[in-house]
Amino acid sequence: MRAIVVGTGAGGATAARELQSAGFEVCILESGSSFKPFTRNLSWSEPLRRLGLLGGEKNFRHLFPAMDIHRSSEDLVLVRGLTTGGSTVLSCGNLVRTDNGLKEIGLDLTPEFQELEDELNPIPIPEDKWRPLTRKMFQSAQDMGLDPKPTPKAVDPQRCTGCGLCELGCRVAARWDSRRFLKEAINRGAILHTRTPVKEIIVAHNMVKGVLARYQGRKTIIKGDVVVLAAGGIGTAQILKNSGLDVKDNLWADIVLTLGGVSKGAHQLEEPPMVWYTKHEDFILSPYLDVLSHFFHKPWRNVSIDDRVGLMIKLADVEEGTVYADGQVEKSLTSIDQIRLDQAIKYASQVMDGAGVSRPFIQGMYNGGHLGGTVSLKKEDVKNMRPSWLPEGLWVADLSLAPRSQGMPTILLTAALALKVARKIIAEN
Ligand SMILES: Cc1cc2nc3c(=O)[nH]c(=O)nc-3n(C[C@H](O)[C@H](O)[C@H](O)COP(=O)(O)OP(=O)(O)OC[C@H]3O[C@@H](n4cnc5c(N)ncnc54)[C@H](O)[C@@H]3O)c2cc1C
Repeated sequence: MRAIVVGTGAGGATAARELQSAGFEVCILESGSSFKPFTRNLSWSEPLRRLGLLGGEKNFRHLFPAMDIHRSSEDLVLVRGLTTGGSTVLSCGNLVRTDNGLKEIGLDLTPEFQELEDELNPIPIPEDKWRPLTRKMFQSAQDMGLDPKPTPKAVDPQRCTGCGLCELGCRVAARWDSRRFLKEAINRGAILHTRTPVKEIIVAHNMVKGVLARYQGRKTIIKGDVVVLAAGGIGTAQILKNSGLDVKDNLWADIVLTLGGVSKGAHQLEEPPMVWYTKHEDFILSPYLDVLSHFFHKPWRNVSIDDRVGLMIKLADVEEGTVYADGQVEKSLTSIDQIRLDQAIKYASQVMDGAGVSRPFIQGMYNGGHLGGTVSLKKEDVKNMRPSWLPEGLWVADLSLAPRSQGMPTILLTAALALKVARKIIAEN
């Protein structure tokens, strides 16, 4: 039985490894190239940044092609990894359970969460590696009764150098990313083709036959008995739309807004990002120096990186966004998002005030990198872990399946969904 897996991120790598272990002949198609972390020293860019000569955030792609930055409206940019490892290679390594919206559809991922946690063993970064100001903000959140907790991370604290630039790839391989699952699948015989973007699904008589991809510069049909789409919230929706299949306009992104204050010599970048978090109904707060805002957001320009202090709000946004067949995306902040953000900004400001961070607290760029919801599961789909409207043999195993935004890290959720989907495929074939 030949399975084609599209994408190598949290979902694709998990599904590929599982299918290969069960004896499938697995062919993995990845649109991006092999991942290389960003290794240039950033200090050269500081004078250009201050003068505003770095241009817009899109220019970053020339320096670091693995990070795809897409403006979905005037006020929001979406970020994803287009490379081996998908968005996991850009992650902060946070690994927590989140299941917003799953109970409503009768989906319990507890066994999959447990199994993945047992394997990846997420642990907090020891407090002696936190910057003093981060400790003060933790204390301030505690004094406010917000119950902050150290963030479990799939990061080896012994190896981590605390460079603070997890989103640009881990130079010392201290942080887990899905390439580890991918490697296991390949070691057991799976074939990986990078730089092979899938365009469409090939279907005959409501049965999947394979995919149409660009392979070695040519349009090529690659045949398979089973096709597993794991190209992420945007990529999977784009392929389905190109194939004439119905995708809902329910894209969510977990919108991030970092509030930027100042504290002389804080050196917040000299610790891993997001070492603790507070959990609220629609958002989390977590210490984070937003590199995108530092480099490309005009209102943040006049403060040096050594003195900038950030507190991130990660918001569960309204599930309203459209992916088009050409890959364009339309999504903006809704009035409900804005109301929830205003409440979060109040809490974040209080935490920073309590830690002695100097005002003004300036808002960073609105961005989102948890892309899901476009092929969301319904109650009636859960038994088969597959939306019923998909042709036979076509499966989805990525964050697109999650119906609701989380306002929480989403790798564990994606991998748990993919694991459950892969086991259904194995059971049915
Ligand atoms: C900067 C950043 C930091 C993050 N930090 C964290 C964190 O610390 N903890 C956490 O839990 N979550 C984090 N996330 C979110 C998390 O990484 C994603 O939610 C998760 O990786 C989603 O998995 P996925 O498989 O759906 O998509 P992805 O991991 O994005 O994988 C999609 C894959 O499909 C490929 N692809 C796309 N289109 C095509 C195509 N047409 N043909 C072939 N291949 C294609 C892509 O190149 C990629 O390999 C972060 C996200 C970002 C952007």
